[in-house]
Amino acid sequence: MLFERPQHLSADQILERLRTAGSRVSKATVYNTLRLFSQCGLVHEINVDPTRKFYDSTTHPHHHFYNADTGELTDIPADQIGVSGVPELPPGTEQQGIEVLIRVRERR
Ligand SMILES: [Zn+2]
Repeated sequence: MLFERPQHLSADQILERLRTAGSRVSKATVYNTLRLFSQCGLVHEINVDPTRKFYDSTTHPHHHFYNADTGELTDIPADQIGVSGVPELPPGTEQQGIEVLIRVRERR
């Protein structure tokens, strides 16, 4: 379901869609499977805050807009954001990647 198209879904959203489609899968199975997919690199985890985690079917490097009002994540191609001034990395480490999350809200 997550891999049908490029999308960002929470575990609860996936569970809800599975249930709507008639599946009787347990919540624990959904969470455990997503954790396994993430560990294997099949999905990319995005933590927008300590209580909200999304699973991204697109695993190549890219950035995101996060709309705090709608809870929606939107992709930003990697080449549209340049990051300068990256500090010296901690000793013994190498850079794995830089992800930018731009938080937006509806204009009031
Ligand atoms: Zn994405």
